[in-house]
Amino acid sequence: MPEPATCFFDHDPAELATLFGGWGLPRYRAEQVRGWVYDKGVTDPHAMSNLPHRDRELLAERMRFTVGQIVREQQASDGTRKLLLAWPEAAAAGNAAGDASQDARTTLPVLGERDDDDLPWHTECVMIPAGDRRTACISSQVGCPVGCKFCASGLGGLEGNLSAGRIVEQVWWLNQHGGRITNVVFMGMGEPLANFAAVTRAVRTLAADWAFNLSARRITVSTVGLPAQIRRLADLELPITLAVSLHAPNDELRRTLIPWADRVSVDQLIDAGRYYFHRTGREVTLEYILLGGVNDQAQHARELARVARRLRSNINLIRYNEVAGLPFNRPRGDDVRAFQRVLREAGVNAHIRASRGRDIAAACGQLRHETRAAR
Ligand code: SF4
Repeated sequence: MPEPATCFFDHDPAELATLFGGWGLPRYRAEQVRGWVYDKGVTDPHAMSNLPHRDRELLAERMRFTVGQIVREQQASDGTRKLLLAWPEAAAAGNAAGDASQDARTTLPVLGERDDDDLPWHTECVMIPAGDRRTACISSQVGCPVGCKFCASGLGGLEGNLSAGRIVEQVWWLNQHGGRITNVVFMGMGEPLANFAAVTRAVRTLAADWAFNLSARRITVSTVGLPAQIRRLADLELPITLAVSLHAPNDELRRTLIPWADRVSVDQLIDAGRYYFHRTGREVTLEYILLGGVNDQAQHARELARVARRLRSNINLIRYNEVAGLPFNRPRGDDVRAFQRVLREAGVNAHIRASRGRDIAAACGQLRHETRAAR
């Protein structure tokens, strides 16, 4: 019986060398293969020309290099590229009951978790160019357990966790579709800190000099807010940027938008954010999606300024991209600028994030949602 194929991106060089040794290959073959995949972007073992024919055949049989398949690709007029990836063998990759989700679910509900083996898993990843930067926005889960009311990714709940290899593989795909990635943000589908082990392993791979060699400072993990996991991340002392998706300046409004806010207060997030700053020296960013007529008024900005000052954080303001079927509107440009003005007058560093990819399905999870709705 042949062994089931193992996935290349799930292994670091030491593990690869051990694996190859067990298959009767010289251990240095691992470094050759690593170079083909990460340095040259080649994942077809038959094209690895400095390997003997016999070894190429063995690798083709025993190792899967890319697991995801691009099922849709879109390019916006501003250069933003979005890939919809299908992941086969959802069940074999571990479903929603991954280790760290279990952790999160000791205190938080998982909405609409499904075990639907009929559909392949779909996730989105996006490359956003800006000057010399090419930022990869990647997913950490399939669907999302949080179910924010304004978000397409949460529609349908959580289907499962991506493995570290599948998280890393998204960056590899984006590298092949639009140039070398310089920055990575975990702002695609899923709550990264609810898939803690896989996400932190993927972060280490992205930063490793044997893989993508990205500065940890160019990697951002964005969370809707799991205080215990934020502390755990801080204790790892990875100098990555932490972004907390606040989206409302007080508990009452936040609970109407984010179901998990029922269990986690803004005060708890501020405490956890301060701990993160204390441990890592990295300023926490607050993400705030402006929803027209909901959280975009001057009184919200004044309240938000008080939160930001307690946390000593900067704020990214994101103008909402509408999702078909959801009852939220994109705010007016004047309201967005007025909101920023109130924050700045209160002494808070606030940026309006440029809307990118408006002429493709720009909102997170929207392409997947449309693709599934059309089936
Ligand atoms: Fe999940 Fe983020 Fe969407 Fe909320 S906004 S449902 S946390 S992907």
